[in-house]
Amino acid sequence: MLGPMSTTPPSDFARLRRKHQRGAYDRETIHAILDAAPFCHIGHIVEGRPVVLPTFHWRYGDEVLWHGSAKSRMLLTPGEVCLEASVLDAWVLARTSFNHSANYRSVVAFGVPRLVEDPAEKLAAMKGFLDRLFPGRWETLRPPTEQEIKATAIVSLRLDEASAKMRAGPSGDNPEDVSWPTWAGVLPVHTVAGAPEPDPHVTAGLVPPPAPLASPLARPAPSPRVA
Ligand SMILES: Cc1cc2nc3c(=O)[nH]c(=O)nc-3n(C[C@H](O)[C@H](O)[C@H](O)COP(=O)(O)OP(=O)(O)OC[C@H]3O[C@@H](n4cnc5c(N)ncnc54)[C@H](O)[C@@H]3O)c2cc1C
Repeated sequence: MLGPMSTTPPSDFARLRRKHQRGAYDRETIHAILDAAPFCHIGHIVEGRPVVLPTFHWRYGDEVLWHGSAKSRMLLTPGEVCLEASVLDAWVLARTSFNHSANYRSVVAFGVPRLVEDPAEKLAAMKGFLDRLFPGRWETLRPPTEQEIKATAIVSLRLDEASAKMRAGPSGDNPEDVSWPTWAGVLPVHTVAGAPEPDPHVTAGLVPPPAPLASPLARPAPSPRVA
């Protein structure tokens, strides 16, 4: 289980080796990175082979959820998964190729996900997914049908074995290289939302919600797991 402000890895498997000083294992750090990352990757073993797929995720407390088709291998293959989510904050240019780097925040978590089967929990989780991206939008929509709920599978992974890694700051050139005459420094990276493009059926006067990537996704899913 993640401890508050824990600096101890939850397992030897999840212990950072290289650049371990960039690591963290506390709940607050791991939660914040998961909330800031727009999507994650799920790695799992299918028919003995590794498969890694991108998918959107959301979080309640110490659980991270993802969803998809009720026929999806990603959701229904039993067994352990590895979840990864990261945010690229900047390119870091140095005076040697060796010292080039990036500023980032990332999370890796291991565990066996649980299929969310309770109908009330499932509906609340579907709402939570949308609430994270577009707060208040669920209430404006046609309610989901039973068939739509049935066609959706949701799984939940407890963050019991997770690690975070972060890099921030300038490039790390060796002192003897800093006078080398090439530009070095940090190129910040931001994801910017474009202008909305309404579909032809939008009723006049309706306005689009703000795009989630226009403001940082730094929030957990606001609704409770079970309505
Ligand atoms: C956007 C991005 C780009 C990167 N580019 C490179 C690159 O080009 N080259 C490179 O060598 N590394 C890169 N990294 C770092 C990379 O993810 C690994 O941390 C690094 O390669 C160390 O690997 P290792 O063999 O020590 O990991 P391992 O010894 O296999 O890791 C041990 C454990 O540490 C934890 N861990 C390792 N890495 C991370 C991580 N990033 N976030 C959270 N937990 C982690 C996991 O729990 C893992 O099981 C990048 C990271 C990010 C986020």
